[in-house]
Amino acid sequence: MKHIFLSLVLGICMMLSGCVQQQMQRQANTSNTVVLDIGHYYHPQRGGQGARTPDAKYGVIEETEFWYRYAGYVKNVIEKAGYTCIICNRGSMPTDAKLAAAAKKCGVVHINSPIPTAIYRSKHHPNRVAVGMLSADFALDQRPGAVVFLHHNSNSAKWLVSNKGAFYCNERGVKLANTMAQVMNRDVLDHGMPNNGVPCGVVVRNDGRKGGGDWLNTCNESYVPAVITEVAFLSNPEHAQYLSKHANAVQFAESIGRGVVEFMRNR
Ligand SMILES: [Zn+2]
Repeated sequence: MKHIFLSLVLGICMMLSGCVQQQMQRQANTSNTVVLDIGHYYHPQRGGQGARTPDAKYGVIEETEFWYRYAGYVKNVIEKAGYTCIICNRGSMPTDAKLAAAAKKCGVVHINSPIPTAIYRSKHHPNRVAVGMLSADFALDQRPGAVVFLHHNSNSAKWLVSNKGAFYCNERGVKLANTMAQVMNRDVLDHGMPNNGVPCGVVVRNDGRKGGGDWLNTCNESYVPAVITEVAFLSNPEHAQYLSKHANAVQFAESIGRGVVEFMRNR
């Protein structure tokens, strides 16, 4: 009798959790919301805390500040296509007046992480921990159809031509990353931004808990496609020269937006 009761309870639990999973899946597949996360954060005295160009020889770019300036262009493309787009950042409003104005213009939601460099546990999936996790949690709060973590890459403290940029994605985000890479190849790589004929990579990532791996994992566990953009290398003089020009930076940002839109339309 006891056994029958226990297996009945177990069966009901399994059914319920199956229902919850199906509902989460449906939610992600039908959501018209896209969340963009501006990577790293702005320190009131030291400025943007992401990767930066080695020196001023080929242009001065820091990735957080870059995305404060250009995330709005990604958002415009997504919203013009009829989707809702929300931009967030793990830190607080930049003290730099121009960046603050750009942040207000495109409505950046600041998470105001108490310690932006600390490791946080996801409230959605508590086995996932990472620096910047509060942004990933915020993104999932929006019940999104896609999440894009806006970054640039850098693989050297000195100038070095390097072309193996990629969109890092979770398993749910392979199609999103592939679509974004196709658009990036079509519109930007060797079509403005020199890349020596090397196409944009797509890398499924589920490791690196302290870094971005668990942002992707926590999104994956909510069935949400997620991508980290690591296409341009700020240590590559050719990429830095290209991105230093405003019109080119807009072209780069808009191609990220177009990639997201093409994915959303063809889900
Ligand atoms: Zn970064």
